[in-house]
Amino acid sequence: MLKFVNYSVVFREVPNEVTLAINISGCPNKCKGCHSPHLMEDVGAVLDNEMLYSLLCRYNNAITCVCFMGGDAEPEKVEQLAFFVRRATNGRIKTAWYSGKSQLPRGFIIESFNYIKLGPYIEKLGGLDSPFTNQRFYKIEEGRMVDKTCLFAKRKVVKTEASYQ
Ligand code: SF4
Repeated sequence: MLKFVNYSVVFREVPNEVTLAINISGCPNKCKGCHSPHLMEDVGAVLDNEMLYSLLCRYNNAITCVCFMGGDAEPEKVEQLAFFVRRATNGRIKTAWYSGKSQLPRGFIIESFNYIKLGPYIEKLGGLDSPFTNQRFYKIEEGRMVDKTCLFAKRKVVKTEASYQ
């Protein structure tokens, strides 16, 4: 069962999109220097189709993308939720996944996503905007993963936040 602790409307995590980023808890990756250690705990509210639909109703006209931040403990559930977003919005709202794994699980269906980020956080290499980063950001084009990490070269952060109550 996927759970989330909060969500934010962000402008940086997915280039050229206004994104509802949902922070999923229960992360199994244990990256050294993790920026959000609370996300390793089994906390928060259940993230299912019903909850996602209520968020879509609230933000439908304000966003162009939904990004699932985490969910590596249950990647198939992340894929199902991404498929739900596509279906519920007739494909108007794009979907993205930030995974902390270096590779996708075997048999993972990438067609439910427009964007996928792969790679754990390694402190000395930095995040996506670091020239030394191990992480990769892909755009899904015609069933292929096209590396677009270069889009992150030093961008400004603009962010508004809302917590789930
Ligand atoms: S994937 Fe993200 S949340 Fe999980 S341990 Fe690594 S940095 Fe922390």
